[in-house]
Amino acid sequence: MRDWSATRFVLCDLDGVVWLAREAIPGAAEGIAALRESGRRVLFVTNNSFSLLAEQEAALAAIGIPAEGDVITSAQAAAFLVERGETVLVCGGPGVVEAVTARGAEPVVEGDADVVVVGFHRDFDYERMRVASDAARRGARLVATNDDPTYPTPDGPIPGGGAIVAAVSTAAGVAPVVAGKPFAPMADLARSRCGPTFTGAAAVMVGDRWTTDGLFAAALGCPFALVRSGVTAPGAHVGGSVDLDVADLAAVAATIIGPI
Ligand SMILES: [Mg+2]
Repeated sequence: MRDWSATRFVLCDLDGVVWLAREAIPGAAEGIAALRESGRRVLFVTNNSFSLLAEQEAALAAIGIPAEGDVITSAQAAAFLVERGETVLVCGGPGVVEAVTARGAEPVVEGDADVVVVGFHRDFDYERMRVASDAARRGARLVATNDDPTYPTPDGPIPGGGAIVAAVSTAAGVAPVVAGKPFAPMADLARSRCGPTFTGAAAVMVGDRWTTDGLFAAALGCPFALVRSGVTAPGAHVGGSVDLDVADLAAVAATIIGPI
């Protein structure tokens, strides 16, 4: 049995861990509260680049999880790759505009730019693909918020940010730098948000998908706790190594904190 007593930072995926399509997963709010009460810092790490931070915080508050200042998004990870004062062509949602603006860069919708940031948005169309790929072909750095091919919904999978990035990247003939989980920019952002006392040994990544959350844990050098409340069904085969394999976030909290 692993000793979790040194765990100070709990990095938590949202979809499939805390909620499913923003419907609370039973025990998640209580698990987060117990982890916080035990003195641990909980951060929510999501590849959702579309929604505004305040919307994501409000959605968490609505299921009983106060989260102001505790949400890290792939839009912020993408903005981490942008310098202050740069011009950024946004081919994404309002969360990308917000993150780029917070970084001190200037979001634009067309023309030349220093950087093109591509993320999930439902009004993506041929014209957006043309404008974004044109800027990248003319030399703008191409940054993807994430490369998730699909997102789960109650009605089945829908095309994800990765599908949009693939279209822009193909048209531009330029490979993107991907910012979100499981890649290095998101890991750098998470480390910086945890502060100087962060170490991999003092953290755990909780997620429902090995190919994003498990590999993200590896990028951080921390253990991975798999929960089977999302895309990985109970009993389903997992592609890589897992340090804790339990039903849900409540079980993760009970394991880390120990019997009360
Ligand atoms: Mg998930």
